[in-house]
Amino acid sequence: LPRNIYPNRRNSAGVDIAHPPELAELREKLAYWRRDDPVATPTLRASVGGERIAICAPQTGKVVGHWVESTETDVDLAVARAVTAQPAWDALGGEARAEMLVRASDLLEENTARLIDLCRREAGKTLTDAILEVREAVDFLRYYACEARMLFAAPLPLPGPTGEQNLLRLVGRGVFATISPWNFPLAIFMGPAAAALAAGNCVIAKPAQQTPLIAALAIELCHQAGIPRDVLQLVPGGGKVGAALTANPQITGVAFTGSTRTAHAINRSLAAREGAIPTLIAETGGQNAMIVDSSALPEQVTRDVVGSAFQSAGQRCSALRVLYLQDDVADEMLDMIKGAFRALTIGDPADLDTDVGPVIDADAKERLEAHVADMADHGFPVWRRSLPGDCEHGHFVSPTIIEIGSILDLDEEHFGPILHVARFPSGGMGQVIDDINSTGYGLTLGLHSRIEEVRRFVESRAKVGNFYVNRNQIGAVVGSQPFGGEGKSGTGPKAGGPHYVARFATERVTTIDT
Ligand code: GLU
Repeated sequence: LPRNIYPNRRNSAGVDIAHPPELAELREKLAYWRRDDPVATPTLRASVGGERIAICAPQTGKVVGHWVESTETDVDLAVARAVTAQPAWDALGGEARAEMLVRASDLLEENTARLIDLCRREAGKTLTDAILEVREAVDFLRYYACEARMLFAAPLPLPGPTGEQNLLRLVGRGVFATISPWNFPLAIFMGPAAAALAAGNCVIAKPAQQTPLIAALAIELCHQAGIPRDVLQLVPGGGKVGAALTANPQITGVAFTGSTRTAHAINRSLAAREGAIPTLIAETGGQNAMIVDSSALPEQVTRDVVGSAFQSAGQRCSALRVLYLQDDVADEMLDMIKGAFRALTIGDPADLDTDVGPVIDADAKERLEAHVADMADHGFPVWRRSLPGDCEHGHFVSPTIIEIGSILDLDEEHFGPILHVARFPSGGMGQVIDDINSTGYGLTLGLHSRIEEVRRFVESRAKVGNFYVNRNQIGAVVGSQPFGGEGKSGTGPKAGGPHYVARFATERVTTIDT
């Protein structure tokens, strides 16, 4: 078997809401956890003295819980403890670390309802998205546990002249800071941390300041699974805490997911440090397109466009931003897409029927609205859904379609439920791909075409990390679609893929002569 296939690994089954008894059980548990009032604090803080900051649900504005921002002292203290704890964690070996990661994944699964409840209230996720989020976090833990078992089991013997023995082994790099986003507050919070732990590093985990509560619960479950408190620590906070982490010379690596701009800032901060050269693993934004030619099936295109652009309120870095329709089928396709767009249910994620929930906060809403207004001012045709009355207390942005000339009409990624549509002439696909490449982003690309040659052409020309053909372009599955981009979209390696964990480790070779 190739080394990245683990016969005993299965992705999590999640919760099947189409099965009435499972849905009823989940609802009962969700009602129970709704009474919870969680608080996220820096893991090592002895007494919680700092100011408590409220987290309000993006859909209702109601308080979900509180958190306390870490101070620079919290950060320094956390790093110092991690440095002390790291050699023993590294020496424990891949098998023992894997067992703890698997135990943590089991605890996450057992606490699915509690985690789903927080995903919905703290991050405004729909039930479907919240279920997928917990599954993905569980899958990351189990996949990286497999990697820990395999990569750290025994040194790799390498050839040499007679009498010489060469052994290559992997060890942890030291202390990793993981800086994670609010759009996957559990899966992308857990994923990089789990990989760093698998490789023998200690982890200081900084969740997004919008979503520290679910992160705190995940850390608590990891500690219950046996991962020592000094090995995995939480430092809730915003940019100041992130900056304190990246400036600390004892942080040997940073795994960041978020905007390209912040990744550049982190890169500069790491480059400014003297001494050891730290590792940066960054997964950033995208300006993702889908190309539809005249051989595509309209119903399938409609389903996949609407899902890729509007699921999760467009708040995925994989989400479709620019749809390219071949002009001889464009009117027909666009009519069908607008029909499905009009049928989307917008509202509180507490309702099972909701397709599109809120965006994360007031700033996000303001930026997205400013973009729509700007495009309208510039004369681009805009279609919008009107928002139902019960959306007035939340940060809702009505799903929007904007017709543009090409991807070059857009200045940057717009992280929300806004789909841009452009047309291209028959024979113009090469130009479309060149335009997409020229944005410098390279995350996801969709293609709907029944022509094998077209698929090969696009595949060979497009510079993207994840290319999806005749399907939607979101929801990469751990172990099946390793996820991550190139260029302005990230450094790689791909999350949930066979090269990820190794990047968190460093290589050492011992040569023994007789
Ligand atoms: N892995 C997710 C997907 O395939 C996107 C991750 C992100 O938004 O950062 O949809």
